[in-house]
Amino acid sequence: MEWKLGFKTEEKRKKRIEDRIEKQAFRQAELVSASNSFEIIIRSLIKIGAGTENKFRMTFIKKINMNIDFNKNTDGLVPAIIQDASTKNVLMLGYMNEEAFLKTNETKKVTFFSRTKNRLWTKGEESGNYLHLVNIKNDCDNDTLLISVNPEGPTCHKGTDTCWAEDNEPNFGFLSQLEGIIAKRKRMSEVEPELREDKNSYVVSLFDAGMNKIAQKVGEEAVETVIEAKDDNEDLFLNESADLLFHYLILLKAKGYSLKDIAEVLEKRH
Ligand SMILES: [Zn+2]
Repeated sequence: MEWKLGFKTEEKRKKRIEDRIEKQAFRQAELVSASNSFEIIIRSLIKIGAGTENKFRMTFIKKINMNIDFNKNTDGLVPAIIQDASTKNVLMLGYMNEEAFLKTNETKKVTFFSRTKNRLWTKGEESGNYLHLVNIKNDCDNDTLLISVNPEGPTCHKGTDTCWAEDNEPNFGFLSQLEGIIAKRKRMSEVEPELREDKNSYVVSLFDAGMNKIAQKVGEEAVETVIEAKDDNEDLFLNESADLLFHYLILLKAKGYSLKDIAEVLEKRH
């Protein structure tokens, strides 16, 4: 009798834990990403030893799956846009059926349904260039996936970083454009003055003057920014800040670096 009671209490305890974890998981799933929560919860279930991880896996998959409309297209496929989690560049486009989606969630390696091969295809299964899953988002009408990944090696089978023959470099928007213009000016400073298309470029004149002058300009702009920071003219502060950043980009280029290198240093410290 005592044994039976103990058994029942233990069952109840397991059930309570299970319910609590399930609720927590679904809440997390809504808040963060389905894939991350899935992993966390499976790990906790194994740790607790309740033996419920498989049941939970099925319930959970059903739950996160419900929102994706695999029946919208007659072939049961939804397009999956693959995006680098850190640079945000689009790497490729593939198609997933439900099975490919589940396998991606389970293995954390992006798996498509290949229409050419007519079977599940884990990207990298031959080349070793896997796409490691970070997050999956469903779009506004549940028929297109946005999948962020950490790519291992080049993504395209042609050997380029993206399927659009681009380098998967970080992009800082307008600042990257500005870096491009500064790089052009630097190349211009390397040709004979009379052969230059723009003879009055300020940036070219700085490259002509050399490292000491460029570094000195950064120093001056920094001091001016400090002065304006202590004053209360917002417009002057913003303008001095822009001057500082502009000259800093020139200095980086003169030293052979770019914002990307500095971002890498900062990322490592983070
Ligand atoms: Zn490609």
